[in-house]
Amino acid sequence: MALKDVVSGTRNEAGIAAVLDSLKQLLGEKLQTGHSFREQHAHTTTYLTTQLPDGVVFAETTDDVKAVVKACAQHKVPVIGFGVGSSLEGQVNAPSGGISVDFSRMNRIISVNAEDLDVTVEPGVTREQLNTYLRDTGLFFPIDPGANASIGGMASTRASGTNAVRYGTMKDNVLALTVVTADGEEIRTGRRARKSSAGYDLTRLFVGAEGTLGLITSVTLRLQGIPEKITGGVCTFDTIKAACDAVIMTVQMGIPFARIELLDEVQIRACNAYSCLSYDEKPTLFLEFHGTEETTALQSQQFSEVVAECGGGEFRWTGDAQERAKLWKARHDAYWASKALAPHLDALSTDVCVPISRFAECVTETQQDIIDNGMLAPIVGHAGDGNFHVLVLFDGKDATSIANTEAFVARLNRRAIAMDGTCTGEHGIGQGKMSFLEEEVGNALDMMIAIKRSLDPDNIFNPGKLFRSHKP
Ligand SMILES: Cc1cc2nc3c(=O)[nH]c(=O)nc-3n(C[C@H](O)[C@H](O)[C@H](O)COP(=O)(O)OP(=O)(O)OC[C@H]3O[C@@H](n4cnc5c(N)ncnc54)[C@H](O)[C@@H]3O)c2cc1C
Repeated sequence: MALKDVVSGTRNEAGIAAVLDSLKQLLGEKLQTGHSFREQHAHTTTYLTTQLPDGVVFAETTDDVKAVVKACAQHKVPVIGFGVGSSLEGQVNAPSGGISVDFSRMNRIISVNAEDLDVTVEPGVTREQLNTYLRDTGLFFPIDPGANASIGGMASTRASGTNAVRYGTMKDNVLALTVVTADGEEIRTGRRARKSSAGYDLTRLFVGAEGTLGLITSVTLRLQGIPEKITGGVCTFDTIKAACDAVIMTVQMGIPFARIELLDEVQIRACNAYSCLSYDEKPTLFLEFHGTEETTALQSQQFSEVVAECGGGEFRWTGDAQERAKLWKARHDAYWASKALAPHLDALSTDVCVPISRFAECVTETQQDIIDNGMLAPIVGHAGDGNFHVLVLFDGKDATSIANTEAFVARLNRRAIAMDGTCTGEHGIGQGKMSFLEEEVGNALDMMIAIKRSLDPDNIFNPGKLFRSHKP
């Protein structure tokens, strides 16, 4: 049984057959229609029902992408972009079938402009590939979702990660895009200038559009200089409220940390077991400071004072790169560590984000909700942004467990929205959060639908995502 009864669209059988025929002629082996390819491109880390595309095109060039879009537009057949498939809300599912465009072969670094601190890449480049490539330049790309996601996928979900509190999300770090639009032609949304007042901000329209407005064929990104000194550390608290209060105070005092991550006691237990660590099983903060020897030492000292004021334990910090790497590897593996707590269960990862002053309230109410309902659901968060995730472990074969999980997710999303927050800080809407988008944006949804209708009148780009239908 699936957790959510996701929307199934109508299939355009004749159109799909015509597109497959035409793409076979045009693209040969780049088109694959075998079941395992199709399943791989719908079945991801998501908890939602798998809905297979009818074919997968491994695009190698922009011309390949144009050919797919033109064929799909001609026959009104869905076309769904695919990076590495790590999105968590059913974004790459194909509820009406259609063609999945896999960008993994479009993975070239097009140009690095070190003197301008920017880079242009094809969408299939992954964040780790990019940072490996940049290693000798003294520059790095800071956005780090837990998965080794593609830059095209990250732009499309407006992703972020542990560094966002200092360096921003994809919305702040994409300077320009090229996009193949519904007529099968390519547009460029901006240039490399750091700012521009030239007309509508199309770059930010496509960032976070989840592939519903066009297919991204290149991304120009801001880069950052690797800091002279990086220190990191850990401290524990007796209650989750005290840990959250320390975060709020640190943000409000303007201590310029680069990362501040919250892990509740269940998440720490999971990380200890999964990553062979021995942290105290208490609410914990992981931190990192970027700067010089002097500034990072000063910031660590200031943070120690905040911890003391909030009744936390000792803040143990280090400049040792290996120690820090161990800590952040454990943090990035938090999802898998949580799953390993109960491998026989299904997992649902959901995220919300609230204004920082409401963070402690939202997290403590959520933890109480988990306890009251006897759930196994670790909490982990990019706390400095007011963003946290809950990984609910539930029994996907049991109707009661499914109903309880859905009810919990609804309460969590409504709690965040009621605090003037959002139903997703970074995972996006996909299929899983369509009803919460409606609740969050109200009648602004009509404007979103109008934009979709105007740029994609036949609803070929990733239909059945963000909103149930773009037709009136
Ligand atoms: C363990 C784990 C940890 C995670 N941690 C985080 C986190 O900390 N922060 C965070 O933000 N997310 C996180 N995520 C979610 C996920 O990694 C992000 O949503 C990521 O941005 C998805 O990238 P992708 O390459 O996997 O894209 P996909 O899943 O392949 O696609 C995502 C969406 O983008 C569209 N798309 C892909 N490529 C293109 C393109 N070239 N043009 C147009 N549309 C395109 C797809 O159609 C789909 O709608 C995590 C996921 C996992 C599994």
